[in-house]
Amino acid sequence: MEDNIHEWCLLEYLNIAKFISPEYFYITKLSPEAKSQLSQEPTLKECHLLTNDVNSMGIETERICLLDPASNDVLMTDDAEKFEYFLFGGILGDDPPKDRTSELRQFGFPTRHLGPLQMTTDTALIVTKKIIEDSIALDQIPFIDFPEIKFDRTESVIMPFRYITIPDMNVSTLQTTDNQLKRHVKPLVPSGMIELLKKDGDMVLDMETV
Ligand code: SAM
Repeated sequence: MEDNIHEWCLLEYLNIAKFISPEYFYITKLSPEAKSQLSQEPTLKECHLLTNDVNSMGIETERICLLDPASNDVLMTDDAEKFEYFLFGGILGDDPPKDRTSELRQFGFPTRHLGPLQMTTDTALIVTKKIIEDSIALDQIPFIDFPEIKFDRTESVIMPFRYITIPDMNVSTLQTTDNQLKRHVKPLVPSGMIELLKKDGDMVLDMETV
């Protein structure tokens, strides 16, 4: 949905490609320029890179689940039987969220949410995969909310998203009260994201990559 492939989007797509076989990974509604750019990425060129939008793929609307933060229904493990495709907005997060997923909602797909906080697109996909393929309920998946990225001893920034944690430990209730533990819990972020942040702001970060 972004007009151009922002570096952040590219890192998220590359991260997704680590979790999804290329034959199951469709990136739709690409501009010809964006398609050309993505097809030069060794890990993406085997994916389905389409300039068409999802509606022109000939898939029954009811078989497509739109992951939508505004949905009334949480994604459940038994949704694996209901849906064949899972649709994510290929859009960057906003703080506060601007509800750009509404651009996909208007087409009438059934929707599911992954909790009240916005995730990056790659995080949303990894969480969906855990629920649908690994049959792990949403409340069993370990998250860290709004992780703090330290630039130096005095400056830091809060990433306004919910991430899966590494290591795999559930600190959702502890993180606000146990700062010592919080320091050991890292968000799962795409490879290259830290370098991108450093490039953008010459930042020194205290995070791990996948
Ligand atoms: N600020 C954007 C908005 O309001 O739509 C959030 C976009 S999010 C970075 C990118 C995509 O990830 C969304 O379009 C949605 O498909 C999925 N996503 C992120 N967080 C989600 C959540 N809590 N529940 C369901 N889907 C989510």
